[in-house]
Amino acid sequence: MRLSQMLFVTLREDPAEAEIPSHKLLLRAGYIRRIGSGIYAYLPLMWRVLKKISQIVREEMDATGAQECLLPQLQPSDLWKESGRWDTYTKAEGIMFALIDRQERQLGLGPTHEEVITAIARDTVRSYRQLPLNLYQIQSKFRDEIRPRFGLMRGREFIMKDAYSFDAGEESLKKSYRDMDIAYRNILDRCGLAYTAVEADSGAIGGSASQEFMVLADAGEDEVLYTEDGKYAANVEKAISLPPDIEASPFTSYEKRETPGTETIEKLCDFLKCSPTAVVKNVLYETIYDNGTTVLVLVSIRGDRDVNEVKLQNEVAKLAPQYDANVVISLSVPDEKAQKKWASKPLPLGYIAPDLSDDYIETSKDIAPKFLRFVDKTAVDLTNFVTGANESGYHVVGANWGKEFKLPKLVVDVRKAIAGDRAVHDESQTLQSARGIEVGHIFQLGTKYSQAMGATYTNEEGEEKPISMGCYGFGVSRLAQAAVEQSYDKDGIIWPVSIAPYQAIVIIPNISDTEKVEIAQKLYRDLNKAGVETMLDDRDERAGVKFKDADLIGIPYRIVTGRSLAKGKVEVVDRANKESQEIPLDEIVSTLKQWISEAI
Ligand code: ATP
Ligand code: MG
Repeated sequence: MRLSQMLFVTLREDPAEAEIPSHKLLLRAGYIRRIGSGIYAYLPLMWRVLKKISQIVREEMDATGAQECLLPQLQPSDLWKESGRWDTYTKAEGIMFALIDRQERQLGLGPTHEEVITAIARDTVRSYRQLPLNLYQIQSKFRDEIRPRFGLMRGREFIMKDAYSFDAGEESLKKSYRDMDIAYRNILDRCGLAYTAVEADSGAIGGSASQEFMVLADAGEDEVLYTEDGKYAANVEKAISLPPDIEASPFTSYEKRETPGTETIEKLCDFLKCSPTAVVKNVLYETIYDNGTTVLVLVSIRGDRDVNEVKLQNEVAKLAPQYDANVVISLSVPDEKAQKKWASKPLPLGYIAPDLSDDYIETSKDIAPKFLRFVDKTAVDLTNFVTGANESGYHVVGANWGKEFKLPKLVVDVRKAIAGDRAVHDESQTLQSARGIEVGHIFQLGTKYSQAMGATYTNEEGEEKPISMGCYGFGVSRLAQAAVEQSYDKDGIIWPVSIAPYQAIVIIPNISDTEKVEIAQKLYRDLNKAGVETMLDDRDERAGVKFKDADLIGIPYRIVTGRSLAKGKVEVVDRANKESQEIPLDEIVSTLKQWISEAI
């Protein structure tokens, strides 16, 4: 492509709307344009990158035997009602764009496709002989993200590859899942990215085993905890660890103490001269189930540890049937406004004890009358502990479970693992923290959707069984930006060769020198003919501007038809390390072909 004929507009200044380097660079280099909140246009250079990533994804998926298809983005609400997700996705999480057509039918814009694909399996799969199957598509997804940000990282319309596997039984599902794990690793290797596969929380989508693929970068929204021996890596939402040892409580008898101004653990421990591991901290949450019931949750946990809200939400979700509900819609620390809705009197915040009276809850139709009380494993073994006195400015010391306080029946592990904790698999390893961008997520769904929607097959014994399913998402547009986040310098983007929009750019420093222009044009034609995807900067611009632009857009190899032509050579600069070489004109094509094949 000739730059003089392209839509090619670069910016010298960082656009105000962008916060992280990759977003700034993609805007400045003219790859994307913001059209609305979380909505972007992929301009021609970006589209080439996205097509390359999609092609790598396609090749690796096809290699596993998966088949490509294209499912509708407009999805009837009926399907989502069958799976029980319509309300959660349109009201609770509210992530699905929903609309009503002229016949008053409800539809949603696909945020994901479990319902559609399960309906297809229900209609087409009859026998174990048709299994296993894996169907995938590459398509724009719609999600009304509450906080769209960082450009393509979290958009409201974005490109995803989603695959769904169908197996006769768990064993076969595990194999399909392993195949996807390998395919994802191949895809990321081929795209030239550094990544880690981590254990992940399965969240609202349901199912059991799941793994995320994280591209490591400081701007990542996720935190990954891992050990240096390479044996453990997990999303912090899911991570486990060993808590530090308990330091014995200095108190030996039970008593109430005045502890003014000690609403934080730090202030309290300073005041009482004790370790936070001798404190039972009681944290209040408010959860809302899908039937509108609000439940107040009180978690007792060791003072030095924090609650992992994802783990807590999973525990709360398990108890949904107890409240005639199906799923949790939200879990949060109630602010003053939220407390007003149910608190019968001011709460002793900062001084709450495990036995905070249920009288604090003003009974009404949608509010459960009793606290749902959990105790985290870390707090169970504490003796002579310090905790709140349910009265502002007071704590109790020397308390014990079974004496002054009843141990809550629900003992759970909702502790947040943090960097520096000892690893469970090997106490000599400590957890390290890194930031990651989640580019892929693979799940074993099991029979959750097939059971809800009646997708069954008959096995060899002639029995009817629900199909075992897996789902496998991969963020194509997010990956494109993640690649930039991982690879740039002060001058611009450094694309991995395999996904660069073009592999080479020929620059004519001065277009009034007709001889040099002709040589450059011939080189440009020869390279393209030989399969090297090449651009030609034939604009009437100063050489300096052209070099700056080439660096900014990040084309791997820059070829300049400049002074060295007098010796029959051209200058070639490697974008990644800025190393420059003079190569004879007649060797350019073969040299570049070789470099590219080595890099890919
Ligand atoms: P996240 O936790 O980042 O919101 P998710 O768990 O909702 O991701 P999945 O539903 O598993 O993501 O979707 C599969 C993949 O699609 C993700 O791994 C990610 O790469 C990509 N993806 C998800 N949401 C977005 C988005 N809003 N913008 C761009 N890519 C996204
Ligand atoms: Mg999401």
